[in-house]
Amino acid sequence: MMKAALCLATALITTPVWAQPASPALDAALARTPNTGGAKNIILFIGDGMGINSVTAGRIMAGQARGQDGASYRLTFETLPYSAFSKTYSADKFVTDSANGISAITTGVKTINGAIGVDATVASKACAPIASRIPTIAEQAKRMGKAAGVVTTSGVTDATPAGAYGHTSTRGWRSDSELPADAAKAGCIDLARQLVEAPDAIRMNVVLGGDLARFQTTATGGRRIDKDLTRIWAAQSKAQVVTSKTALTAVDPKTTSKLLGLFAEGDLPSVVDHKNQTEVPSLADMTSKAIEVLSQDPDGFFLLVESAAIDKWHHQNNAYRALTDVDELDKAVQVALAKTNAKDTLIIVTADHSHGLTQSAGSTREEPIMGLARNRGVNEPDKNGKGRTVLSYASGPSALEPHDHDLTQDEVLRPDFKQPTLVPLSSAQHTGEDVPVYASGPQAYLISGTVESTFLYEVMNYAISLK
Ligand SMILES: [Zn+2]
Repeated sequence: MMKAALCLATALITTPVWAQPASPALDAALARTPNTGGAKNIILFIGDGMGINSVTAGRIMAGQARGQDGASYRLTFETLPYSAFSKTYSADKFVTDSANGISAITTGVKTINGAIGVDATVASKACAPIASRIPTIAEQAKRMGKAAGVVTTSGVTDATPAGAYGHTSTRGWRSDSELPADAAKAGCIDLARQLVEAPDAIRMNVVLGGDLARFQTTATGGRRIDKDLTRIWAAQSKAQVVTSKTALTAVDPKTTSKLLGLFAEGDLPSVVDHKNQTEVPSLADMTSKAIEVLSQDPDGFFLLVESAAIDKWHHQNNAYRALTDVDELDKAVQVALAKTNAKDTLIIVTADHSHGLTQSAGSTREEPIMGLARNRGVNEPDKNGKGRTVLSYASGPSALEPHDHDLTQDEVLRPDFKQPTLVPLSSAQHTGEDVPVYASGPQAYLISGTVESTFLYEVMNYAISLK
C-alpha cells in the first residue's frame, strides 16, 4: 500500500507539468476577459483563519487524501480567475479577531476587535448607538428585493455568521443569558434575537449552522431565559425550522422561503467526527440547500458561507481537523459553482485572518504533509536527534504539554495529534499577515493586487448596484 503510493507519487513528480510548451494555465490566462456586468447573486465564502499557509498545507493534504501528488494538486477555489491579498488589521489592533474581520468585509468599515456591523466609535461592553450601526451587504441585498442567507459550521450567532445580520459592540452577547444585567437593562439586544426579530425588510431568509441552545429556552433544554426564538421564526409565512440532516434534505424550496436549520446545541462537530453523527449536514449540504431556497427569489440573493472549523481547530493546534476543513470549504465552493452561473454570480473566497501554522520541514513530496520530516522514508531529526513534524505552530496549547519524547510517525499521523508550538497559550493566537482572496463572476476582475479587507465590500456593493 505504502509502496504503491510512493511509486505513484514518484511518477507524478518526474512529469514536469510546469514546463509543458502549451500550458493550459497560460491559455486560460490569455482567454480571460473581465465580466463588467452587474451581479444578480453574490456568494461570499469565508475560511475562518484560512491564511495562505492553510491553503498550501490544505491543498497538499486534500491531494494526498485522493492518492495524488499533494504539491501540484489544485483546490477548486484556486482555479478561480482573479485573486488578491487582503490586509486584515482592525481599527485598533494589528491582528484582527473574527468579528472585525468579517464586519470589515460585509460593511466596508473597519471596527474594533469584538464588534460587528458597527463603526469604530463604539465602546466594548456598551450598547452600540444607532448612529454607529452600518448596514451589511446582506441587508442591502434585502432592501434591493433580493433574498439573503448565512451558512456556517459554527453556531449561527458566532462572529462570522453574525457579520451578515448583527450590530453589536460585543460579539459574546449571543443569547439573552449571555447579556450582563447592566447591558440588558440598557436595552442591548443579543445576536440570536437580532437575527430572528430583525425587521421584515432586512431579515435573513436562510440561516443554517449550530446554536440551537441559544434559540430555545431552559424549559426545552436551551439557554434562553426570555422566549423560544425557533417558535417566532416558525410563525412566519412559508417558514421552517429543521434540526437534522434528514429534515434539511426534505425541505422543499418551492414552499419554504424562510429556513432556520440548527443542527447542534453549539458549534457543529468536525467532519472528521461526523461518522457517529449522521444527522449533521456538511458545509456542502447546507450550501446546496441554501442556494436552492435563495435562488427561488427572481431578484437574486446574497449568501455568506463560513467554514468555521479551520479556525476552531487551529486554535487547538490540531492541524488534521483544521486542514480537513479547507477541503470541506472547497467542496462547498464546488456546489456553488455548479448551482450558479458565472455570468451573473459573483463568488469570493477569502479569510478573515490567518493563523500561525508553518510548513517548515522540506520532506520529499511523497511524504504525508501531516507526518514527520522525512527524506524518502528516512527521518530527518532535529538538532537533538528527535523526530520533528512538517507542520508546526507559532502559539497555542500544545506547548503546554511539551513533547519530551522522540515523536514517531504513527503518533503524529493520528487525527488527534496537536502539532508542536513555540509560545504556550491556552488557545493559539490569530496572526496578522495578509490573506488570499479568490474571485469569479461580475466585477471579480477588480479583485487584484494588495487591498484592504474593506475593499471586498466595495466590490460587492458596486457589483450588486449595477443593472
Ligand atoms: Zn479564531
